[in-house]
Amino acid sequence: MTAQRRPHEAVDYDQLVARLPPPPEYLTTAYLADPDTIAATQLARLRERAEAASRVPFFRERWAAAGVDPGGLRSLDDLRHFPAYTVDDIRRSIEANPPYGDYQGVSVADAATEPMRVYMSGGTTGTSRPTLYTAWDREAGAILTARALYMQGIRPGDVVVNAWAYSTHNGAHAMDEALYRWLNCVVLSTGTGNVTPSRKQVELAVQYGASAILTTGDYLLHLADTARAMGLDPQTDLRLTALPNIGDKQRLHDTFGVPVYDSYGFHEVQWVAIECPVGDGLHIFEDAFVVQIVDIETGEPLADGEQGAVCITEIYKTGSPQFRYNIMDLSTLHPPGQCACGSWLRKMAPFAGRGDNMVKLRGVNLWPEALGEIATAVDEVGDDWFVVASRADGRDEITVHVVSHADPTRFDEIADRVAARLHEATGVRIGASVVAPGALDHLTGFGTAAKLVRFRDDR
Ligand SMILES: [Zn+2]
Repeated sequence: MTAQRRPHEAVDYDQLVARLPPPPEYLTTAYLADPDTIAATQLARLRERAEAASRVPFFRERWAAAGVDPGGLRSLDDLRHFPAYTVDDIRRSIEANPPYGDYQGVSVADAATEPMRVYMSGGTTGTSRPTLYTAWDREAGAILTARALYMQGIRPGDVVVNAWAYSTHNGAHAMDEALYRWLNCVVLSTGTGNVTPSRKQVELAVQYGASAILTTGDYLLHLADTARAMGLDPQTDLRLTALPNIGDKQRLHDTFGVPVYDSYGFHEVQWVAIECPVGDGLHIFEDAFVVQIVDIETGEPLADGEQGAVCITEIYKTGSPQFRYNIMDLSTLHPPGQCACGSWLRKMAPFAGRGDNMVKLRGVNLWPEALGEIATAVDEVGDDWFVVASRADGRDEITVHVVSHADPTRFDEIADRVAARLHEATGVRIGASVVAPGALDHLTGFGTAAKLVRFRDDR
């Protein structure tokens, strides 16, 4: 029997920071690696992870059926031969082997010999999908998150409000670990508005001189409104210096006077890519991931510049592998080349919607996020939106609901303009409706959900 190992025994920290440099040294090392070094590092780590994944039943069975094995990985391009999988495959794995599924590289029994955590995604609808994290995976993931937060302006010694939900979901904990363990920030762990009311969040941020408030962009803008209602100025009283908040970039920038950088990640792997000050695309942490963009239906890799689903292979973990996980988020890979910031790391486009939310309307592929963006750009339309797909008289229909501060007697006229703009942009007729601000909150989950719901499929 192996003895219990404490964190410092379970993780070789010298090896960890050599493999995945934390900020700020990341920006003068791996971030500036040349293309050959990047590719060689990726291939070596990919082979290690393929070996580990080949011992996990979920992958072993799929790979045997596809006739591939780790020995077949002679180049990065060979990765395409390994079958991709989606969240549906994960769900089936959990149903057949509850509650952990057969896709974890480690088990709860392993916690007897090293610290381990479990976090879950989903849960609001359907079964929760757990991921087990070894001590190394937590630390490595926290370094990736620390890189992203540092590149967005957070600095050692900062006080940071963490207003994400401390729950079964990884998000708040991942941020907390990155801030505390790798950025030497002092965290005010306020949790969401349900735990710490909005006025209290603003009060704490002002009193303690917080440099950032980690939450959705929507909730941060709500906190700006709360601050104004308290007689405070969001810029001069809050004095945020970093905006690691995903949302309306322009509005966030205008409200707080701080640059906003796009980023991309998800709970199983933490942070994947972050925009640099040049602003054209998100640099992928290529010492930790191989990112492919694949056809939504076939899973086959697409050419650079073509939009498809993000397919992720992590190359940094020791526990549960993600090996060609088609996450169904839409994006595009930029062609290889050196960015004006000096980095050769491949870039991807910001999140462009959910591949599995695609609605085919009279032969045209439409994504709710794209429709929301078009509709909210119309004059007098607010930033909130909600898309519903329905079926009437044997035809699929889409309605885009938006909000407006205008007088309600003018809602019909504004709706006509939104519908006309949607028709012009997509070539198909799409319904539009205008309601008062706040009237969509029960649909989007604003104020209660960590991630807003923007689409409902009633077909
Ligand atoms: Zn760059």
